[in-house]
Amino acid sequence: MSEKHVLLGMELPELKALLTQLGQPAFRAGQVMAWLQKGVPFEEMSNLPKALRETLRETCIDLPMNIHQAFPSSKDDTVKFLFSCIDGNMIEGVLMHYHYGYSLCISTQVGCKMGCAFCASTLNGCVRSLTSAEMLSQVLLANRFLGERGHVGHIVLMGSGEPLDNYDHTVDFLRKVNAEDGLNISLRNISVSTCGLVPQMNRLAEEGLPITLSISLHAPNDRIRRQIMPIANTYPIDQLMTAVRAYVQKTGRRVVFEYALIDQLNSRPEHARELASLVGGMQCHVNLIPLNHVDERSLRPATPQAVQQFLKTLEERHVSATVRREMGSDIGGACGQLRRRVLSGEAEE
Ligand code: SAH
Repeated sequence: MSEKHVLLGMELPELKALLTQLGQPAFRAGQVMAWLQKGVPFEEMSNLPKALRETLRETCIDLPMNIHQAFPSSKDDTVKFLFSCIDGNMIEGVLMHYHYGYSLCISTQVGCKMGCAFCASTLNGCVRSLTSAEMLSQVLLANRFLGERGHVGHIVLMGSGEPLDNYDHTVDFLRKVNAEDGLNISLRNISVSTCGLVPQMNRLAEEGLPITLSISLHAPNDRIRRQIMPIANTYPIDQLMTAVRAYVQKTGRRVVFEYALIDQLNSRPEHARELASLVGGMQCHVNLIPLNHVDERSLRPATPQAVQQFLKTLEERHVSATVRREMGSDIGGACGQLRRRVLSGEAEE
């Protein structure tokens, strides 16, 4: 990482101290802060003297990330971003347009070490975790990209990485993106997705953050889950469900179970029945996702008929469930697909 100070994400007193060191009046800190919250780079901070803009450019970093490339979908309003970090690492984000506004899917790590068998993000392991400023940057850059068209109102932490494996920065990001003098995005509009790191889920329950917790379940029992999610060897389903129940109890928030439907493996009627008895009666919603096919993986999506049958079986058992609409499939919508294509040279201009 660069030696320069990254200003985005700094608290106001810290920023004031830094600007005082540069011989500036304290009120400049507020000005810089206001620009940074809009994702504006130093050279465009028009109410700062030119010389100060120059000094800041030489000694500090405004946003620790840039949009390397934006890939608009030809099928819908979805845009996939390839963001570049200062150290040259690349991560992905996806901007989706819903009837309620713009939602951004952000990454929390460069790669992932969880090793799920269906996921592209984890194929090269985890390079490093992102800082909270890097997570904020993704939102600010998407807002800049949208300009007059609108702004990000919802965020999902479902890009590459395991948010709870980067716990402190994730929680810091959540507080900062919600700050009144920051982007002020409601925590109720933010979903954090985890493969099920039980100790961190217990910790998160105590933070007083009314986010929506999504749990990537993907199997109704340990036998199947272990075949596709190595984390199931560390935290079996009964421990996971105990943590989920405690989370609901503590926060009063409904949780979401993510369930990717894979041909034969976890999508048969008996699996739906088993899932219904596992989560039945809980304050939860099941999000069914037809598996996104990843070239490097041999797993196939369940057929549309199997998906509908699965949904029906859950509904008959009074489990709240929906099938997630597929968006941006032509631009490598599934986690980690775009970054991989770029790493292998396929998507470069
Ligand atoms: N590490 C976190 C968040 C990132 S993945 C987690 O595991 O929840 C976001 C969601 O996409 C998870 O539910 C993940 O299991 C799912 N996912 C990953 N690859 C997928 C694929 N090929 N098809 C469908 N869903 C996938």
